[in-house]
Amino acid sequence: MKSFDAIVVGGGLVGSAIAYGLAKKDQSVLILDEGDNAFRASRGNFGLVWVQGKGSSMPAYAAWTRTSADVWPELAASLEEDSGIDVDLHQPGGIHFFLSEKEQNERDEMLKRVSNAAGSNFQYEILDQKTLRGMFPQMSDAVIGAAFCPHDGACNSLRLFRALQVGFQQIGGTYLPLQSVKDVQFHNPGFSVQTENSTYNCGKVILAAGLGTRELAPKVGLNAPVSPLKGQIIVTSKVKTFLDRPTHFLRQTDEGGVIIGESKEDVGFDDSTTPSVMHALAKRAVTIFPMLRNVNVVRCWGALRVMTPDGCPVYQHSETCPGAFITCVHSGVTLAGAHAFPLAEAITQGTLDESYKPFRAERFDVSKAA
Ligand SMILES: Cc1cc2nc3c(=O)[nH]c(=O)nc-3n(C[C@H](O)[C@H](O)[C@H](O)COP(=O)(O)OP(=O)(O)OC[C@H]3O[C@@H](n4cnc5c(N)ncnc54)[C@H](O)[C@@H]3O)c2cc1C
Repeated sequence: MKSFDAIVVGGGLVGSAIAYGLAKKDQSVLILDEGDNAFRASRGNFGLVWVQGKGSSMPAYAAWTRTSADVWPELAASLEEDSGIDVDLHQPGGIHFFLSEKEQNERDEMLKRVSNAAGSNFQYEILDQKTLRGMFPQMSDAVIGAAFCPHDGACNSLRLFRALQVGFQQIGGTYLPLQSVKDVQFHNPGFSVQTENSTYNCGKVILAAGLGTRELAPKVGLNAPVSPLKGQIIVTSKVKTFLDRPTHFLRQTDEGGVIIGESKEDVGFDDSTTPSVMHALAKRAVTIFPMLRNVNVVRCWGALRVMTPDGCPVYQHSETCPGAFITCVHSGVTLAGAHAFPLAEAITQGTLDESYKPFRAERFDVSKAA
C-alpha cells in the first residue's frame, strides 16, 4: 500500500491551501475529501481577503491575518503558474460603510483595539461622507462615513478553490473525493487513516475537515470546538462598474455581478435561505446604493461558517500523537496565503513553534488557559 508524507483530511479551502503548500515543499500529499455532500463553506463565501477588524481580541490573529494578506500576491502568482487560473486577486483597500453614528463608534472602537494590538502593522482611517462621495458617486446620503483599511482586498473565491485543487494535482498531489474519513490511528511513528472502504498510511495527518474536524480531532488527542454559523448571500445580474473596491457588505465582481451579504445566524446545521434575511440584506444594499433597486437578483444561497467560540482560528499539533495537526478556521479565503506558505512550512518541519501557542484550543478551557 502506498504511503504518503502527509494526508490532509478535508478538501475545502483550508485543506487544499495547506496541501498545495506541502506539495510545493516536495512532500507527497493525499487529500481525502468527503465531497460536495458535506457542508462546504468553501463554495459559499464572499471572497474577501480581509484584514480590518480581525484579531481585536487576539493580537496574534491580527498579525497572522496581515501576514496572510502580505503573502497573498505570491500565492496568486504561484497558483496562476501551476494551474493556469487567474484568481482575480485585487487589494486596493477595503471599505466598511456606516449608516449610523452607533455603527461608526462601535467600529472605530474595535479598530482602535486592533491597532493598539498590532501597532504599525495595521492602518485604517475613518472617511467622511464627502470623501466617500468622491469615491462612490452613486452612494446615498444614508451613508454617514466608512472605515478604510489599505490592507484589504478580495478575490474570486470559486476560482481560488479550483486553482488550489488543479495546482495541487499539477505539482504531484493526489486528491480523492467521496472519501469520508472514519478513523485515524497513531502508530508511533506514522498514522493510518481509514475511510469506509480503504486505509491509507502517512507520516503526518492534518485534520482540515471544516465542521467535520470536531468529530475527528479526539482521535488524535485534540479538541476542535467548532460550530456552524449561517451566512446568506445574494448575487445580482451584471451591471456597469460602480464599485471598484471591496466593501464588507457589497462587492462587484470582475464579471459585473454584485454580491450582497452576508448574514450571521446561529441556527445549527441549516443552510437554507429565508425571505426575511434576504429582504434585510437587499434593503441595506439599496439604502447604500439606491440604483440597485432596479437590478435583478440571479442567485442566493446560505452556507455555514466554521466558527470557534471566539471566532479566531485553532491550529494545534498533537502532543500525544506527534505528526497530527488540526486547523479550524472561519476566514479560509483571507488566510489561504498563510496556510499555503508559513503554516505548510511549519507542518513540513513537523511542529508548530511558540508563535502558534495563542491558537491552541486550550484557550477555551479556563483550567488550562494560563
Ligand atoms: C456566507 C459565508 C461568507 C464567507 N465569507 C468569507 C470571506 O469573505 N472571506 C474569508 O476569508 N472567508 C469567508 N468565509 C469563510 C470561508 O469560506 C471558510 O473559512 C472556509 O471555506 C473554510 O474552509 P474549510 O476547508 O475549513 O471548510 P469547508 O469548506 O467546510 O470544507 C471542509 C471539507 O472537509 C470535508 N470533510 C468533512 N468531514 C470529512 C471527513 N470526515 N472526511 C473527509 N472529508 C471531510 C468536506 O467534504 C469539505 O470538503 C465565509 C463563509 C461563509 C459561510
